Amino acid sequence: MSTTHPETYNHPDYEAAHQQTYERTPRHPITPVPLPPGVRQSDFDLAVSEFVSIVGVESVFVKDGLSDYIDPYDVHEHDPAQRKVPSAAVCPNSTEQLSSILQVANKFKIPLWHFSRGKNLGYGGPAPRVNGSVALDLHRLDRIIEVNDEYHYAVVEPGVTFIQLYEYCVEHKKKVWPSTPSLGWGSVIGNTVDRGMGFGMNFAHHQCVAGIEVMLPDGDVVRTGQWGITSSPSAFLSKFTFGPSLEGLFFQSNLGIVTKMSLWLTPQPQAYMCCSFSMPLFTDLEVMVDVFGEMKRNGTVQSCVWFTSLIETLCIMGRREDYWTGEGPVPDWRLEELRQETGFGHWYARWGLYGPKRIVKAQFEEIKSVLSRRAPTGTISGNLYANHEDDGRLDATTVPDQDGQMFVGIPSLWSLPLINWPISKDKKDGKAAHGDYAPVIPSNGKLLMEWMNVSKPICEANGVELMADFFMHERHVVLMNMFTWDQTDTAQKVKMERLYYGLYEEAKKRGYGMYRGHVNHMETDLIANLNDFNNHAYNRFVEKIKDALDPNGILGPGKQGIWPNRFRHLRETQEKKSE
Ligand SMILES: Cc1cc2nc3c(=O)[nH]c(=O)nc-3n(C[C@H](O)[C@H](O)[C@H](O)COP(=O)(O)OP(=O)(O)OC[C@H]3O[C@@H](n4cnc5c(N)ncnc54)[C@H](O)[C@@H]3O)c2cc1C
Repeated sequence: MSTTHPETYNHPDYEAAHQQTYERTPRHPITPVPLPPGVRQSDFDLAVSEFVSIVGVESVFVKDGLSDYIDPYDVHEHDPAQRKVPSAAVCPNSTEQLSSILQVANKFKIPLWHFSRGKNLGYGGPAPRVNGSVALDLHRLDRIIEVNDEYHYAVVEPGVTFIQLYEYCVEHKKKVWPSTPSLGWGSVIGNTVDRGMGFGMNFAHHQCVAGIEVMLPDGDVVRTGQWGITSSPSAFLSKFTFGPSLEGLFFQSNLGIVTKMSLWLTPQPQAYMCCSFSMPLFTDLEVMVDVFGEMKRNGTVQSCVWFTSLIETLCIMGRREDYWTGEGPVPDWRLEELRQETGFGHWYARWGLYGPKRIVKAQFEEIKSVLSRRAPTGTISGNLYANHEDDGRLDATTVPDQDGQMFVGIPSLWSLPLINWPISKDKKDGKAAHGDYAPVIPSNGKLLMEWMNVSKPICEANGVELMADFFMHERHVVLMNMFTWDQTDTAQKVKMERLYYGLYEEAKKRGYGMYRGHVNHMETDLIANLNDFNNHAYNRFVEKIKDALDPNGILGPGKQGIWPNRFRHLRETQEKKSE
């Protein structure tokens, strides 16, 4: 068994960023945690030795080899009783090995915590919900099975990252623009099953999935949709199924492990226009949301519309101290000064237009005309990039960075610096961390404005600015209330917990569920508790399926608040919490 963690990125920049992320995390030595309830040490030892015989000694990790299977932003990283740590890790490189690992886990009833690249930072990274679970790291299953540029889709394994898929498409001159989140180091499958988002036409990744292959906890393998038919020519082209659609059962789930996934990609367009619209006042958000919401619904704007606040614009460029040296968060009067000094808007909407040049130009003219009538104090900009041959295709790399990158599907580590916002450059031992509260809210100007007015004082009372951005879909937005803090400052960590719970209470009053959740908040089953209709019928239904598929409760117990029968006593209830 290995007690040191190897490099996992072929890409030097990405490996360096990974190392930097973990650099100041206390990980040598890793303090061992107790085994999960009911797991005997002798069974655990036998299971680990069987894992070694399946994947080899260099792909099973214990002790300090677990250094990269913890959450680098864990607020409890100095508290061994609360810190989330696995007891071992295993990394298969084939579905045969994966199936054998599941057999061993079932034999010895060992809980596994599965992930693809573990870059779910802000949501717990690779850290397990039940301490002492075995980390099941799928990053070595990293084959790109197909990129099809007739129908524009890819089929990938879990370890394939956004940067790997992009570089493959460039190398093989594929006529597609894959979508990417703002950080390219995550896995395509991990991000998609956690309902992550990019920025272009196919930005809502989980909605671009046609067929998936899943290994169930007992090792059985299922393919969904048309892919359930051997040799179907429509396997990755259609979401139609004769019977219930199954894909959704494996998103944010512990019912199975996705071993292959198809993802629709954007055809390389003839033209792309990088567009933005900004407005000066905090209260302008209301009209912006309503106008763009309408244009999303009527098809004038088809891509993601990404809204950002002034603070978020600033935090990509610098740290708080570059703008404000007083106590606490940047006050409103100073923010207004900064807005005037920089010429930025208080709110920005950014989107891309993609397609034939004539259509892109016509779309832009229509948007300009709507905005000049409905939001005349705003400023619009649109920079067109086109291949001037009528049937030509635009090479994404010809779009300059400031207008391209994630909007044209080029992965990068663009947004990583924002985490450093609260850390003073003089504080050499500071350690940046980030989290967010991410409610799903109707795409309605009044409601968005109300949420900003409610969340701003909660953020400020806990020492941070309202740092908000959101991805606009047709009928709802997915909002991120982002917060960054210094892990070396205990008081700040306490405040971040308080902040999260403050936002939770306000969201709960309004019936707003969450798009994604941190493993620490899965711990309190906080988010799952929101599904209260008919005495939590949703949770009861999913758990019936869980018990049928995973009678030994080996796969991801507690993930998303879904508990197998064997561990159900660990569920947090309101009553337990108030005891
Ligand atoms: C600064 C910053 C910016 C970010 N920007 C974005 C952004 O623009 N868009 C965005 O979506 N996210 C963003 N994130 C969040 C996160 O970094 C990404 O979503 C990232 O892609 C998730 O990591 P991963 O892909 O390695 O997934 P993983 O950590 O591997 O997995 C994510 C989840 O999916 C489950 N899972 C993984 N693989 C499988 C599988 N094979 N079968 C079943 N379940 C599986 C895991 O259990 C886990 O719950 C950002 C985070 C930070 C810190």
